[in-house]
Amino acid sequence: MRIFDLGGRAALGIEDKAVDIETASDGRFTADIQELYPRWEEFRTWAAGFTGGPDREVVPTALGAPVPRPPQVFAIGVNYRDHAAETGIDLPERPMVFTKFPAAVTGPYDDIVLPSENVDFEVELVAVIGRRARNVPESEGWSYIAGLTAGQDLSERAVQLAGPAPQQYNIGKSFEGFAPIGPVLVTPDELDDPDDIEVSCHLAGEQMQHSRTSQFVFTIPQLVASLSSVLPLLPGDLVFTGTPGGVGWLREPRRTIGPGEELVTTISGIGEMRHRFVSAG
Ligand code: ZN
Repeated sequence: MRIFDLGGRAALGIEDKAVDIETASDGRFTADIQELYPRWEEFRTWAAGFTGGPDREVVPTALGAPVPRPPQVFAIGVNYRDHAAETGIDLPERPMVFTKFPAAVTGPYDDIVLPSENVDFEVELVAVIGRRARNVPESEGWSYIAGLTAGQDLSERAVQLAGPAPQQYNIGKSFEGFAPIGPVLVTPDELDDPDDIEVSCHLAGEQMQHSRTSQFVFTIPQLVASLSSVLPLLPGDLVFTGTPGGVGWLREPRRTIGPGEELVTTISGIGEMRHRFVSAG
């Protein structure tokens, strides 16, 4: 199953078209896509029994974030073996966790304002929680995931890395628009292998990152187990699962995002996001 926000209305994807969920369900579910996650099992059951046809065309630029108001956003650092090598950081024994504040979430085709010359890209697979998770064993981790979407963990590196450790990861990665997600949420059963997904991003037409989630240090079920051992994960929470090698800040020469440049983020089986960056002035 694939769902998305189309012009502010929750939609179910059927082939390349859309079903308006509020209309098709006679108002049982509202147009607010965020309200589907606390009722995920009920919604999945309804969607599985839906027999009508699509009623809307999909205009990509009308797509919004599939999870516009996540209660919590977890993000994982140093979670690909190749990125750990380029940063020179030893592989962590436990997940390295920070947050992106929820108001940084934006859609898959929105323009993003550059607050400085120090903004970097990080393609990431994002897992969306589908039911309350507390002390979940790794073996059951996938059953708590509503679906997967594409994300960018945009990062203002000078702010992120300012000062002595521990540094300012949370705020440096939470400027307005720095947590774009989309274009759709895909349930794990739709993917050939949800533990081995291709991720990549291109800046101004040049490939910057390319890897597979089989390179994870900690798998999605391991992250669910680890995070839920500390606090409850809530329906509609996001888990940014880390980025592979190739980030701009560590390139020789250094490469950051400039005004007018387009960043294309692609995750196989999910789709692509396209963001154009504009200067603050
Ligand atoms: Zn990241």
